[in-house]
Amino acid sequence: MFRISQYMQELAHPTDLGPKRNPPGPVVIWNLVRRCNLTCKHCYSISADKDFPGELDTNEVFAVMDDLKRFRVPVLILSGGEPLLRPDIYEIAQRAKDMGFYVGLSSNGTLIDTHNIDRIAAIGFDYVGVSLDGIAETHDRFRRMEGAYEASLRGIRLCRDRGIKVGIRFTLTQDNAQDLPGLLQLMDDESLDKFYLSHLNYAGRGNTNRKHDVVHQTTRQAMDLLFDTCWRDLQAGRHREFVTGNNDADGVYLLFWIRKHFPEMEAHMRAKLAQWGGNSSGVNIANIDNLGNVHPDTFWWNYTLGNVKERAFSAIWPDTTDPLMAGLKASPRAVKGRCGECAFFDVCGGNTRVRAYQLTGDPWQEDPACYLDDEEIEVTTQHARLTMTPYVPLRRMAR
Ligand code: SF4
Repeated sequence: MFRISQYMQELAHPTDLGPKRNPPGPVVIWNLVRRCNLTCKHCYSISADKDFPGELDTNEVFAVMDDLKRFRVPVLILSGGEPLLRPDIYEIAQRAKDMGFYVGLSSNGTLIDTHNIDRIAAIGFDYVGVSLDGIAETHDRFRRMEGAYEASLRGIRLCRDRGIKVGIRFTLTQDNAQDLPGLLQLMDDESLDKFYLSHLNYAGRGNTNRKHDVVHQTTRQAMDLLFDTCWRDLQAGRHREFVTGNNDADGVYLLFWIRKHFPEMEAHMRAKLAQWGGNSSGVNIANIDNLGNVHPDTFWWNYTLGNVKERAFSAIWPDTTDPLMAGLKASPRAVKGRCGECAFFDVCGGNTRVRAYQLTGDPWQEDPACYLDDEEIEVTTQHARLTMTPYVPLRRMAR
């Protein structure tokens, strides 16, 4: 996750570099249930509105939580499917809060209503993220449910009115990019706390001409808008959060934005961004799926490191006998192609390895979803053109 607001704050009020502080354990995104009440167009998981066998029961979830706490995991993001479809979600969330975790709920929002908002508020979630794919009919079209937008917005408002920190999760695609300004306006109109832009985790464009690639151009425009909005926010004394996910080149692109607008701050911000270091799948981000399988992040669902029913998470996670984990935990990671040659590898960390794996079968190849030009990142070698293939995501979470 790339925290735009944090770096904009740093830009406005620079602080000493200081030593890098590593979190005590990984953030765990936990897909507690696969069942979902929606069948979204862009969701490649095969979630459906039915129960899936083999999911962890309440006691198994509790036992895993005990282990995660011992392992000093600081944050649990309770997700799905739709986590509110799990009958014991309140029990699980309350226990997580009582144990001292920072607890987030990742929901499609449609099931938050006047009947359960008191229970949700009583738990004291640190954050509730509700997915919106656009405004009104765009969202309904993506979610394949008329009225989904109104239902999600109702859930957002109920959370906000109870004082719960609530925000929008938006996955940017070519088909909904036009709604990004509207969603940012919605944040204003509804006084929401956080905006999370997730890049669609696609692959397959390879070394096409990035300058003219429409997806890359759309991404750049979206990032410009987010940066400008976040900076204006800060100047107005507002402290809402803007974050992005699934494309660590965002950190490099922010550096270019800084070079353009505040060139005198580039060196300082470069050092700060390099301290962040980009992608941390398999290091500071972990995923447990609905069956208890552990993955380096939510997009590696076809690569299982172990199962918490058979082996404790605390034993699975540090085990670098697994070659993928050894490579992800290497510092710096040994990446190839233009990522290996990139002058900003220290900021980006080589981006999202699963895309390289998906496209080439080699997780250490360059990330095909980098939207920066060769000249920008000072790459001079003509790297072998990756073949364009339709992207079949390994697993994309429904919410
Ligand atoms: S080339 Fe690779 S390391 Fe460099 S910015 Fe792009 S994705 Fe990141």
